[in-house]
Amino acid sequence: MPTIMNRRQASALLATAPLAMTIAARAASPRRLLLRGADHLLTMTGVPRQKTDLLISGGWIEAIGPNLPVREADVIDLSGHILMPGFVDTHWHMWNTAARGLWRSAKGGFMPTMAAIAPHFTPADVAIGVDLALAEAVSSGITTVHNWAHNLRSPAHAEAEIAAMVRSGVRGRFAYGYAQDADKDQPMDLDHLSAIARRPPSALVSIGICARGPDRSDAEVWQAEWDAARRLGLPISTHMASDAKAAAGGGIAALAARDGLGPDVQLVHLTAASRADMDRVAKVGSPVSISPWTELEVGYGVPPIPDMIAAGLLMGLSVDNMVLAGQADMFSVMRLSTDLARGVSRDQLLVEDMTALRWATAVGAQSLGLGKRVGALVPGMRADVIAVRVNTLNTMPPADLPSLLTHSARPDDVSLVLIDGVVHKRDGHLIRVDLPAIQAQAAASIARMRSTTAV
Ligand SMILES: [Zn+2]
Repeated sequence: MPTIMNRRQASALLATAPLAMTIAARAASPRRLLLRGADHLLTMTGVPRQKTDLLISGGWIEAIGPNLPVREADVIDLSGHILMPGFVDTHWHMWNTAARGLWRSAKGGFMPTMAAIAPHFTPADVAIGVDLALAEAVSSGITTVHNWAHNLRSPAHAEAEIAAMVRSGVRGRFAYGYAQDADKDQPMDLDHLSAIARRPPSALVSIGICARGPDRSDAEVWQAEWDAARRLGLPISTHMASDAKAAAGGGIAALAARDGLGPDVQLVHLTAASRADMDRVAKVGSPVSISPWTELEVGYGVPPIPDMIAAGLLMGLSVDNMVLAGQADMFSVMRLSTDLARGVSRDQLLVEDMTALRWATAVGAQSLGLGKRVGALVPGMRADVIAVRVNTLNTMPPADLPSLLTHSARPDDVSLVLIDGVVHKRDGHLIRVDLPAIQAQAAASIARMRSTTAV
């Protein structure tokens, strides 16, 4: 945490500074923000606190405690709320968000429908998808995203998605990918990737890659992509063992044999992975992302969460895509994760609600390499914070907080969202996006796509 001068030092500095410098100093040092009197505060690292304040300065969490004696701060009253870290989504294909619900068409189911429209996405279209996804993310309390860009049809597509992420002010990783219809022997644009990697987009947006990996590309291709990413110091993500056919291909063993796993390699789904493969993945610390809703909806199967817990996998949760999932609701992802585990294991006590809450926050952040910055409310970490109302019809009376957050609360109950100390949603309203414009652009984009392709 940076050194913060006290009020007297700051006043002395400003009193002696020329006017221009005074104005500049004020502009560069936004006022502190005090979140006052939350009924409950979940740090994710300790026991819940009651009637607690949280003080933010320069985007950092400066202090947490009851009745903090603070002057010269903007104050937001949070009585009637739970204060907690923002959610971390660990795998989300944002480019096709405007195709929400379009998982079946005259072309067939999800895969053929996406195959029909994907070639028609322009850079503007993929950016519209990212705009819409990020607006919904913030509204739902998701403050960190992993944008899995697997329809990059040109360098301009990548630049457009990155620009959308940067202007949103949402924290995240842009995972550089490939075109949906790329051949299995065609690598992603490694020259452009290299150029992108040399200039990190912003303090909030970092770069990684999303590759087809052993399950969906030739060995020479995925090995070249792994080598390029590691040479550039970029994290890697790939879909693995999504269904029985993919699992039977032995991709996880192939990755392990070539030192292709590790903390820098996230594996997505593992729905059909054997327990031996899970043990192999856990042993080397590769994080995993599951998306229970879409794994059911696309027919991959029931995520084997009891085995994943037993193997000790580093778990992240995700919404995956809006075409199948329909909505970016991390509350329902947590609910489904716990309840599927209970049903599959026939053991009501197998998984705690708090466990899913950690997956959606602190553990998810850790799985993306952000665990020291976000995912918990601790002085010295960046202020990615949400407040959830506990006085609505479906959230009152509050009894067990983890149960309330995983089984009662909904995105509409998120009234306040801060990312890096900046307010994005207040009193239930998004305040940094032109939502009507985004909605109009998304509607026009998908309408044009449907008329062009007859889906
Ligand atoms: Zn995916």
